[in-house]
Amino acid sequence: MIPMVNLKAQYVEIKDEVERGLAETIENCSFILGPNVAAFERETAEYLGVKHAIGVASGTDALHLALIAEGIGAGDEVITSAFTFIATAEAIKYVGAIPVFVDIDPKTFNICPDAIAAAITPNTRAIMPVHLFGQPADMARIVELCEQHNLKLIEDCCQSFGASINGKQTGSLGHASGYSFFPSKNLGAFGDGGLVVTNSDATAETIKQLRNHGSKVRYYHDIIGYNSRLDEMQAVILRAKLKRIDQYNTTRRHVAHLYSELMADLPLTTPHEDGVGIHVYHQYTLLSDRRDDIMTALQAKQIGCAVYYPVPLHQQNVFKEECAGIVLPVTEAVAATCFSLPICPFLTDEQIREIVGVIRGVLVALEPVQNLQ
Ligand SMILES: *Cc1c(COP(=O)(O)O)cnc(C)c1O
Repeated sequence: MIPMVNLKAQYVEIKDEVERGLAETIENCSFILGPNVAAFERETAEYLGVKHAIGVASGTDALHLALIAEGIGAGDEVITSAFTFIATAEAIKYVGAIPVFVDIDPKTFNICPDAIAAAITPNTRAIMPVHLFGQPADMARIVELCEQHNLKLIEDCCQSFGASINGKQTGSLGHASGYSFFPSKNLGAFGDGGLVVTNSDATAETIKQLRNHGSKVRYYHDIIGYNSRLDEMQAVILRAKLKRIDQYNTTRRHVAHLYSELMADLPLTTPHEDGVGIHVYHQYTLLSDRRDDIMTALQAKQIGCAVYYPVPLHQQNVFKEECAGIVLPVTEAVAATCFSLPICPFLTDEQIREIVGVIRGVLVALEPVQNLQ
């Protein structure tokens, strides 16, 4: 059996450190916004090369609070991708704004800058790129569009912890960015967690207020806020994993490159690296017309596989009505043929060869058998 993500193997490696940290926290009873959250915020700000990092309860909250802090509200148009997890668009809806879905690049699956440019109207207030599957979006062009049109740039970095462009981390290029620490993410907690990062002092102050019931001083409330703090216990776990994140991401890249090398001769499309950003492979996602046959064969061998994402957001029931008439040909074509294979820092070369062997069996079985005589 090969799972999509082997969280158990990762736990075994950090067990002692995590258990010591958790025991200490329980002993100290410093459960809310304690020393580990503060230390994790300092450590991630340094790692990501940003002035401020503020721990929150989830990636969804990180994006939601970032939009509020950047002043995005009712009736504002926010341009984003339809080929992403629903939370990207949920955050936009929470503030009363309108998600404007545009098409993706057929190779990287990231939002297409030309499509963004074509969708800008006088009501556009922000662009929200997603660094999908761990590959940075085309930020040079997106930053330029934001500057030209005076738009806010909110990066959805929920899948891209550690991904960078010319030495700059994703999340450090926008006005405010959101990270998720959902357990299966590149940097994952043992539960939910999230982070907002920004270089703006004012945005950081607002996020700190918003996550803690709108107060700067306890029991004095200036705005309506939320209960959205990063949990102290989760911060203990995240600090242990942050120390190892570069090693985790390097191994993910090794896994991806070995997959691609072993499948180079097969009739399917392996992931494309744009050569500009460092892809940290949150997912290893391919395209094949025979996706269903391949997945059936993998499942029969108890090998994990999944479709991220089968239904683009503009075709989801929740958006069907407001997106009526919207056609995104590349997004729709990719959603119809994409599938993802197991990837995590603990997948062995042997397991990768086994997985590729199953896929090869499906794709090569149909080819005419030659030299029989
Ligand atoms: C995981 C994810 C989110 C939401 O993060 P949660 O921590 O689960 O709330 C948002 N956007 C993208 C692209 C994600 O992958």
